[in-house]
Amino acid sequence: MLIRNFIFWLSTKRGVTDRIARHGMKNGFARRFVAGESLEEALRASQELCSQGRNVSLNHLGENVTSEAAAREVRAGYIRMVEELHAKNLTGNISIKLTQLGLDIDKDLSRSMAREIAVRAAALGRTIEMDMEGSAYTDFTLDIFESVQRELGNCGLAVQAYLFRTEKDLERLAPIKAKIRLVKGAYRESPKIAFQKKRDVDANYRKLTSLLLEGAAEGTFLPAFASHDWNMVAHAQAEAARLKLAKSRYEFQMIYGIRRDLQEQVHRAGDTLQVYVPFGTDWCPYFMRRLSERPANCWFVLRSLLAESGHASHQPAT
Ligand SMILES: Cc1cc2nc3c(=O)[nH]c(=O)nc-3n(C[C@H](O)[C@H](O)[C@H](O)COP(=O)(O)OP(=O)(O)OC[C@H]3O[C@@H](n4cnc5c(N)ncnc54)[C@H](O)[C@@H]3O)c2cc1C
Repeated sequence: MLIRNFIFWLSTKRGVTDRIARHGMKNGFARRFVAGESLEEALRASQELCSQGRNVSLNHLGENVTSEAAAREVRAGYIRMVEELHAKNLTGNISIKLTQLGLDIDKDLSRSMAREIAVRAAALGRTIEMDMEGSAYTDFTLDIFESVQRELGNCGLAVQAYLFRTEKDLERLAPIKAKIRLVKGAYRESPKIAFQKKRDVDANYRKLTSLLLEGAAEGTFLPAFASHDWNMVAHAQAEAARLKLAKSRYEFQMIYGIRRDLQEQVHRAGDTLQVYVPFGTDWCPYFMRRLSERPANCWFVLRSLLAESGHASHQPAT
């Protein structure tokens, strides 16, 4: 836990992330978790995944823009992503972050831009998903999601099992009939609002999984279980079997480059698997969060940095 917190803290330090960013794409270690810096690279990775029977969700890395002009640029980029997915006939969607669309500047600005993206996606018969960020944004994200989904019906939302409030939030979301991505939660939250121990987060993840699948059986939710934890995946599969749910009524999601063995297992079991494909020049904080989730990942970064300075051989981790 100490190492996780330390790496997470480092991920917020610009000096550290800039240093890593100078080396990461050049010597290749960042490519393990990031599809590339350009949309073209992300589309190439997506084409490969789709040809293996996976769906994709493209995510343009970056958070918390501080000007309206920057938010508008991000919005234009998201629209281009949907159009390119469509033009290339790729199965999948895009995942957006509301802080990239100006949520820190003006909630209505962020709402109107999320809506414009959803409108363009709907015109192409496509969906979008909204990531859930830190708890300071949960209420705003729910409000914006609710209004856009009620109007257009093509949006999905991530919810976090580590937050105490999530079960209640699902009650609120049930009437909207949406795709709900269940994640454990990636931010550092206070013990006043979030489970801190892995076993408590896992227990809540299981409980919410059952709740979502029961909702799916009643036609309320389309659940997406986004986890690399085999116990969570196995629980969802067992619950779906108990409820005799068709495989089209739920899906699994995993992140590009992480637990590719499990990705293969889920795919082989005949379950739908959507791979979250992150790309962009601002990849370093995201990359560091992936390292903090599994400090063992740090070794392959260290190995490649050492290799560059001639101290060790460069062996990418598997
Ligand atoms: C598709 C997708 C979308 C997501 N969207 C959001 C979001 O919108 N908001 C949010 O807060 N969080 C999001 N997350 C992140 C999530 O909250 C967790 O932080 C992350 O998935 C790690 O939790 P886990 O469920 O995989 O289980 P953990 O208990 O953390 O890990 C279980 C096992 O998975 C493997 N594993 C996990 N992480 C890694 C890694 N980085 N490298 C290698 N192996 C690993 C290890 O084998 C580990 O033992 C998303 C995750 C996924 C898969």
